[in-house]
Formats: sequence, C-alpha cells, structure tokens
Amino acid sequence: MLTDHAGQSYWLETSGDDLAPRPGLTGDTHADVAIVGAGFTGLWTAYYLLRADPGLDVVVVEAEIAGFGASGRNGGWCSAFFPLEEEALADRVGPDPAAALLAELRGAVGEVERVAAAEEIACEFRRVGALHVALGPEHRPELRAEARRLRGRPGGDRLVLDAEGLASRVRIAGAIGAVLHPECAAIHPGRLVRGLARAVERLGGRLVEQTRVEAVEPGRPAALRTEAGTVRARWVVVATEAYGVALPGMRRRLVPMTSTIVLTEPLPPSFWNRVGWAGGECLSSYRRSVDYLQRTPDGRILFGGRGAPYHFGSHIPRHLERDTRTQLMLQAQARRWFPDLEEARFTHGWAGVVGVPRDFMPSIDHDPAVGVVVAGGYVGDGVSTTNLFGRTVAELIRGETTSRTGLPVVGHRSPAWEPEPLRWLGVRYVQRGLLAADRRAGRSGRPPSGRTLAERLYRH
Ligand SMILES: Cc1cc2nc3c(=O)[nH]c(=O)nc-3n(C[C@H](O)[C@H](O)[C@H](O)COP(=O)(O)OP(=O)(O)OC[C@H]3O[C@@H](n4cnc5c(N)ncnc54)[C@H](O)[C@@H]3O)c2cc1C
Repeated sequence: MLTDHAGQSYWLETSGDDLAPRPGLTGDTHADVAIVGAGFTGLWTAYYLLRADPGLDVVVVEAEIAGFGASGRNGGWCSAFFPLEEEALADRVGPDPAAALLAELRGAVGEVERVAAAEEIACEFRRVGALHVALGPEHRPELRAEARRLRGRPGGDRLVLDAEGLASRVRIAGAIGAVLHPECAAIHPGRLVRGLARAVERLGGRLVEQTRVEAVEPGRPAALRTEAGTVRARWVVVATEAYGVALPGMRRRLVPMTSTIVLTEPLPPSFWNRVGWAGGECLSSYRRSVDYLQRTPDGRILFGGRGAPYHFGSHIPRHLERDTRTQLMLQAQARRWFPDLEEARFTHGWAGVVGVPRDFMPSIDHDPAVGVVVAGGYVGDGVSTTNLFGRTVAELIRGETTSRTGLPVVGHRSPAWEPEPLRWLGVRYVQRGLLAADRRAGRSGRPPSGRTLAERLYRH
C-alpha cells in the first residue's frame, strides 16, 4: 500500500533504515502527548519533549511510515529562509519580532547539526551555503535589489558575485551573477527523518505507523480518533502539514502545492571538471515558478521545481510521481542550467506537497483550554523551521517561557483559503501566470513586468 509510493523517494530508499512499518494502533490508549504525523514537525516535538522530560508518555500516530510526507522527499536544503521576504515579514509583525524570528531560524540550522551529531544521525550535513542565481538579464533587477540589501550589512559585499565570481564556483549557462546565503546546509533528508524517528523511540516515544487519524477532538482530555481505536491525551499536536488537509477542519487551512524533483545518475568526473561546483552550494534562481538544486554527495544533481498543477478540492493524488509532464519540464530546465547534462540519464523522479497558508505565514496555533496545537504552513522552507517549531511546541506544552514562545508565529492565525471552486480558479490562474511570466522573460531576456494580475496576486 505505501511502499510503491514511498519507494519513489530516492531519499527514503537510501536512508539506510528499515522501512518496514511499526505496528498500528490496536484499541484505545492514553498518553500525555499524542502527535498526528511523523514528519519533522511531529518528530522534533516528540524529541524535545522526551529530552526535557524522559518520563512523559508521547505517542506519534502516522498514516503511512515516518518520513512518508514532505520530510522524506524534499530538496534537502536546511536553510534559514522563511516564506516571507525579510521586509514583508517586518511590515507584518514589526522589525524587532521579525529580527528575533530570523535569528532563531539561523540558530535552527546549527541546532539540526548539533542534534544530528549528538544522536549519531549520518544525514550528510554540509554547511555549503545557498547561491541565488540570476540566470540571465531578465533576473538583473532582482539580483541588484538583493545585492543592495546585502551590501548594507557588514561583510555583505563579499556575498555578491558577478558572472565571473559565480563561474569560479559553478558554471551555469548564461548566468550573470548570484548572491550567497551562508546560513544554509545541504542534508540527506531521508536519513535525518528516519534517524530522528529512531532517536524518539530510543528516548521512549511510541511510534504507531499505518494508522490514519480520522478526527481530532479538542477537550480535557483531547483525543485522536482512528479506525483502530482512540488515543486520549492532555495534549494533541497536529503535525500533518499539507498531507493532513483531509482531516476535518483542516481543508481550508493550507493549500497543498506539489513540488517535483528529478535526479540524475551519478555524473562522471569529466562533467564536474567542466561545471565546477566543488563547494556543493544549494542553488536556486529568481524564477517565479521556483527551482532548487542540490549536488548530492554521490555526484548526482537533484533538480526540483513547482510547475505541477493544483488539484481541485485540495485533492492529493496518490501517485504524484506519475506526472511525467512536469518531470520532463524540470529535466529540460536542468539541461538549460547545465547543457553538459544532454547525455545524462535521469534515474529518479518523485513529488510531494508543501503546505501554503493563505498569507504565507507559518504558525503555531496553541490552545491550552482544549489541549490542541496545530503547527506548520512552511511553504517550501520547512527543513530547519520544523526544528524551531518542534522545540517551541515542546516548550509551550511544558508551560515554559523562552525566547521562542513569544515569536510572532506563535498564536498567529492565517486567514482561511477560499472555498472551491474559487480556490482552484485562483491558484491555477496564479500558477499558469507565473510559469508564463518566466517563459516570456527567459525568451526575451527582459524582466517580468511585475504588473500582471498573477504576479500581483502572488506578491504576499
Ligand atoms: C518536493 C519537496 C521539496 C522540498 N524541499 C525543501 C527544501 O529543500 N528545504 C526546505 O526547507 N523545505 C523543503 N520542503 C518543505 C519541507 O519538506 C516541509 O516543510 C517539511 O518536511 C514539513 O514537515 P512536516 O513534518 O510538518 O510535514 P510532513 O513531512 O509532510 O509530515 C506530515 C505527516 O503527517 C502524516 N499524516 C497526514 N495526515 C495524517 C492523518 N490523518 N493521520 C496520521 N498521519 C497523517 C503524513 O503521512 C506525513 O508523514 C520541500 C517539500 C517538498 C514536498
């Protein structure tokens, strides 16, 4: 039932872990904390709770296997990025709370590294930085704007690369420059999520797999209802991100947007001699329709992007990886970046969904009166943010006041998405418009006007 789907993620396949599911729930049970979803959010929450109080009874209930969702199928960027640009975030929440949040995010990258080392999780953590690449003259305005922002900061100058500076790191066809974001690591997400699941078990957490939660009932105690039984607990944590939109009450909280990845075969030394990329930086461009790349330690190129269509009613098709059209589009894009890939084979292709809140603001919705926390909405920036959120949720449940529990994501409520068919019409319109804007800009070498309706709707 699950492995044909889960097996499509190269990361889970190569996690080095036994993917055989843990036993499902059999009958009713009690716990101190019951968590729905064994992705990074659920597992980090369990991890920090158990580290702080080894006596707690924590159960994590997962519909498939730990890491089945976005956590086991992402691009492996462990970055300090946030879905909202720094200025937009400061406008929303104020400059000091925005600065505090961004500082915690930078800290989260180091915290992932620290815990992985402490728990002996061999997730190939490499602090390589991320290069934001201007692929041609059409990206010049964004490159200039970002360079201006960085140059206003101490040491910012050396983070701005012209075409030559970029080519000395990595040779990308037609690229005119880039900016470097040092606070980004590349990781093997499959090893991290599976390793974290084992760490939670070592600490005494109970992992229940292949058990779908059908409803969350607030109360004292709160409860998780499944076909196989009910879990009652002082606290229930909903950590299902986009995969949980079918849960009652969750459908308009997040829109599940598909992100697709294609992966080359291991490339020969002759390829790397031509391309460089010895630093293995994470790469992305200024395209509106989103792209992200990783050079894997076994010498492959991972190329990800967001062109796949949104499905009516927030439906998530079982076999997202069968969308070969999007995969071929991404392969063609990868070959535009690196024409030397012409002869290379793409050996893997898979997809997953990211959770997009209506206002692009991730949040921790925490209600002590009824014992329920809902955490998520990371868009495409969840690998390190889930660590920050898991730590914060654990602190909130323990009633602590820390530098994290006052962050502006705590208690934030995003507006609900529109009901269908408006949601489908709007999301598809923006998706198509952004792809078209990128295509026009790529062909003409002129920046997108920023004035099309799709671009204005997307600017959040
Ligand atoms: C293709 C792709 C590429 C990405 N690349 C990056 C990247 O490079 N860097 C980055 O920072 N972020 C990236 N992201 C986003 C990042 O992976 C996610 O934000 C993060 O993993 C979310 O973790 P999570 O634990 O909240 O959710 P998930 O990992 O999605 O876990 C949710 C879990 O809940 C389970 N579940 C759902 N409903 C139920 C239910 N009713 N009962 C029981 N269990 C349920 C699911 O099976 C799933 O295992 C990417 C995402 C995708 C899909």
